[in-house]
Amino acid sequence: MVGPEQSLPVEPLDTISPSQYSWIKQCSLRSLWSRTTDALLPTSPKARVGSVIHRVVEKVSRGELDPQDEQVFQDAWDSEVERAEKRMKSSWLSRRFVPLSGSVPTLRVMYHQTRHRAIELHQAKRNSTGTGSARTEVQVKSREGKVSGRVDKAIDTRNGVILQDYKSGSIFSSAGPNGGNLKERYKSQMKLYASLYHASYGVWPVCLQLVALGGEVRKVNYTVREGVDLLDEARRLLENINQRVNDVQEGRAQTPVLADPDTEACSVCNFRPACQSYWRARGGGSSEWPPDLRGHVRETEVDSEDRLLLRLLTSPDQCKKVVHGIEPNMVRGEDAHDLVKDSWVEVYNLYQKSEEVYKATKYTVGYFQ
Ligand code: SF4
Repeated sequence: MVGPEQSLPVEPLDTISPSQYSWIKQCSLRSLWSRTTDALLPTSPKARVGSVIHRVVEKVSRGELDPQDEQVFQDAWDSEVERAEKRMKSSWLSRRFVPLSGSVPTLRVMYHQTRHRAIELHQAKRNSTGTGSARTEVQVKSREGKVSGRVDKAIDTRNGVILQDYKSGSIFSSAGPNGGNLKERYKSQMKLYASLYHASYGVWPVCLQLVALGGEVRKVNYTVREGVDLLDEARRLLENINQRVNDVQEGRAQTPVLADPDTEACSVCNFRPACQSYWRARGGGSSEWPPDLRGHVRETEVDSEDRLLLRLLTSPDQCKKVVHGIEPNMVRGEDAHDLVKDSWVEVYNLYQKSEEVYKATKYTVGYFQ
């Protein structure tokens, strides 16, 4: 672990948004740390492109960018990619993924999909001033303001309002008929938007739709009861988290009261190196948990390309494991050449080749003491 988990701060939340709701529900500690602390494992370069898309589309929504002018749009895109790469270069965890054109092979496809979506939004915005048929970036909130967010598009039709939210990644959790099953967290998000729209404008939307970057549209079914219940649950969740944060800050409880370790939540968490709850929960580990190892060094070898091979005795299960292919830029702490027998090491995001043998991946990170 990079330090005692109590040393990472947690702060109460002022509000909760529909997009945060499912994340916070899955593990409060992950969401709280992500607000106060830099990630301790690499963020996927695709997520960086997701932020680029978000910023470009936001500029279109605010009327600052005309996506129909290809050169203007290209320049805005390039400038956002450059900005993202500059930030990535300043972090030892992310610099390995620069340039994004090298680490995200679909970058050009995503550019075209984003421009297509931006043109649609731009046209919807122009129509909205003329006919009132569509609004973009619609602010919605609960009566007391504790649950709030912005839905990408509200389309006024003769039958009522359709809410649409755009997603830059896949909207499906698994393959199946008609593309697959929609991600549960996106479904909850849309139902919360419906409830917040009602709280803000006094009417329930007649239809909720998720729109993938490629243009695919999927309906999210909901009932008013579900919307009301979810909003109540989001309010209670916020109160409950803030109560626990308060207990931690006042010394009545320890940080782990905020953690909900589970294979799904921890697999996509960039705070595993700081989280003892995670290590306690996985115990000896199983294939369901992320392929991370920690323990004491038994032997090291460095090959002619400066890549490290580690032989470990893992903790707590005292198993012999071999990790190979660790590059110098993947390591924080002790220099690989200076590691001595019994040094404590933690290695995250590996690829398990066999029961005993692991291999470094482009996401691997080592914390050596
Ligand atoms: S590692 Fe797991 S338990 Fe710990 S903060 Fe992350 S998601 Fe929560």
